[in-house]
Amino acid sequence: MTARLLRGRTLSFKSRPQARDDHASYIYEEDGALLIENGRITAAGSYANVNTKAPIGTEVIDHRPYLLMAGFIDPHIHFPQMQVTASYAANLLEWLNTYTFVEEQRFADASHSARFAMLFFDELLRHGTTTAAAYCSVHKGSADAFFAEAQRRNLLMVGGKVMMDRNAPEALTDTAQSGYDDTRAVIEAWHGKGRNHVAITPRFAITSTPEQLEAAGTLARENPELLIQTHLSENNAEIAYTLELYPEAKDYTDIYARYGLLTRKMLLGHAIHLADREMEAIAEAGSVAVHCPTSNLFLGSGLFDLKRIREHGVRMAIATDIGGGSSYSLLRTLDEAYKIQQLRGNRLAPIESYWQATRGNAEALGLVERIGTLEPGSDADIIVLDACATPAMKIRMETVQTLEEELFLMQTMGDDRSVRAVYVAGEAV
Ligand SMILES: [Zn+2]
Repeated sequence: MTARLLRGRTLSFKSRPQARDDHASYIYEEDGALLIENGRITAAGSYANVNTKAPIGTEVIDHRPYLLMAGFIDPHIHFPQMQVTASYAANLLEWLNTYTFVEEQRFADASHSARFAMLFFDELLRHGTTTAAAYCSVHKGSADAFFAEAQRRNLLMVGGKVMMDRNAPEALTDTAQSGYDDTRAVIEAWHGKGRNHVAITPRFAITSTPEQLEAAGTLARENPELLIQTHLSENNAEIAYTLELYPEAKDYTDIYARYGLLTRKMLLGHAIHLADREMEAIAEAGSVAVHCPTSNLFLGSGLFDLKRIREHGVRMAIATDIGGGSSYSLLRTLDEAYKIQQLRGNRLAPIESYWQATRGNAEALGLVERIGTLEPGSDADIIVLDACATPAMKIRMETVQTLEEELFLMQTMGDDRSVRAVYVAGEAV
């Protein structure tokens, strides 16, 4: 395989920015370059320096004046909900019962799943998202379709067959035993094949019996390297119903803890309405609160309490939550996250947002050795961003003087149109 050198402005994060001017948290090269060999980044830095390391015959692709970053990472998204996005509902539970639980039944059909796996990854890549942690449907075949297509495209994807054995239509439920068996079969068939990662995926406490959460806990113990994903404290009516179903639990978070699911591998979608005890338990376990801003605004679920999450030292991530979310774009997602904090009287600096969408989300998934940065040794999942993607952005850019201003403009006004190119394991897609 020939080597490839990408030239452009490069930005990669080293650590979580502690302030809006924390220049030590990232590496930025005005005339930078990345050398790619066998799907990995083998050198990064100034063009002058990296060019001396390029073997003879290296293909050079000049992306100046655009910005090269690690591909965006979306750590909470639903693969079977492409046709649920933009469904008119008063709240979470109405939205689930009226639209989502109807739509997901269609994924019992293998050809439907296969078609949507293609459409799903097309859409992610068009928006610059090179890794996602996705919920498939309850059907094992939906996970098979998801992973087969991810492997065909050599994508690093996390996914899981949803476990749900109550409070949903008959056609959309498994049992504690079949959910366990099917998840095991998906792990054996797909985990570690290509760049695939399987996640244990109980949808949420409302749709799982205690027996099923017990089975999910068993899977977690048997496969300690696997991520676990579920939903937590998204909406007040959801919380009240959940606590009725699990009266012995101290609170919603305690339900997952009781079944051995509150671990460092756990991704907790939403995590909006949490008591101090819950924040402390999540921080102590090292579980991740996954903020889904467009979804929280669209469904009117609540305003994520970033200040308390930070104060309690809870690990966090940021995600789209399509189809509750309204955009596949991490740029649109960062914009809405910023606005939620504005409403809460908090600040969210652009460099912290871009850190979160790349390295921060990679850390949340435990995958920072592979993705989320432009460091040598990383997989070459790279996006090329344009802050002048629309006429209005171009006009506004005339007054922009700093990288921070450019990033903020792009998250405020940008979307998939700002993504000029995407590389997956070093190959343009
Ligand atoms: Zn979700």
